[in-house]
Amino acid sequence: MTSPKTLVEAVRYYADLDHCQTVMVATRWPKRVTCPTCGSALVGYIATRRLWECRERHPRRQVSVKVGTIFEDSPLGLDKWLPAVWMVANCKNGISSHELGRALGVTQKTAWFMLHRIRLAMRTGTFQKMHGRVEADETFIGGAARFMHKDKKVARARGNLGGMAGKTAVMGLLERHGPDKTSVVRAFVVPTHRRTDVDPLVRSNVKPGSEVITDALRSYDRLADEYAHKVIDHAETYVRGHVHTNGIENFWSLLKRAIKGTYVSVEPFHLFRYVDEQVFRFNDRRDPDGDGGRFAKVLRSVVGRRIDYKTLTGKLATA
Ligand SMILES: [Zn+2]
Repeated sequence: MTSPKTLVEAVRYYADLDHCQTVMVATRWPKRVTCPTCGSALVGYIATRRLWECRERHPRRQVSVKVGTIFEDSPLGLDKWLPAVWMVANCKNGISSHELGRALGVTQKTAWFMLHRIRLAMRTGTFQKMHGRVEADETFIGGAARFMHKDKKVARARGNLGGMAGKTAVMGLLERHGPDKTSVVRAFVVPTHRRTDVDPLVRSNVKPGSEVITDALRSYDRLADEYAHKVIDHAETYVRGHVHTNGIENFWSLLKRAIKGTYVSVEPFHLFRYVDEQVFRFNDRRDPDGDGGRFAKVLRSVVGRRIDYKTLTGKLATA
């Protein structure tokens, strides 16, 4: 069988640890296997144990393909991990820890930790700034994962923030790429949607000189110094030529559907992880290789995220 294309094929294919090993090696070491400790290519393979042994003298000479990835210290086999990665990469509305646990035959708690590791790999950390035409907007997620109606949000935005207790604000940026290319989203959980929280995010993520389109929220009213700032006042109209925030609104509705449908309730503390997951799927929604392409992309991130994972477990431990 060639590379799997559907979930059923993926589950069957990766039930075989040799297949898991092959795909992991191809992802981590596309050219040749090197020692993660010293970088030497003088490594011998011990097929019976699926381990490599480095010829150089140093501690940790024997390494598995999991070393240096987010799977490293997990007792679970790749035959559980890879189907899990496939599901998270491709279930449009996300997958709950209950569903994943049932599908893999692990406990819900184990599945919960797996999901968080995979979501971490899906964080699209980049230092490149967005440019061109960028929409900026915010939404609110309530304690019971309910979202505020836009009009209410606009009314609140103009006045007090008192009614925001229990709501978590999420700020998003969408870079428009025209009809033939996929627009790209970044989203952040923010303490509030005040200027002090959202204005710096625009500046750290969008190149000066770009066109930034927002609604009439006052938090954005200082952007004109560095950007061509276009405002659509939702009290008047929702679209004026290309001046609208419909792209990012579309992303919010997908995010809402995923959280409402799958996650029932999300602790505000963990919200950013669900947001990251949805951002990843959104930005890769037109992968030319479909589900297999998205799986490969998440897997590539998975093998390069060891350091981040240490930070994550630190955070989870205190959560
Ligand atoms: Zn070595």
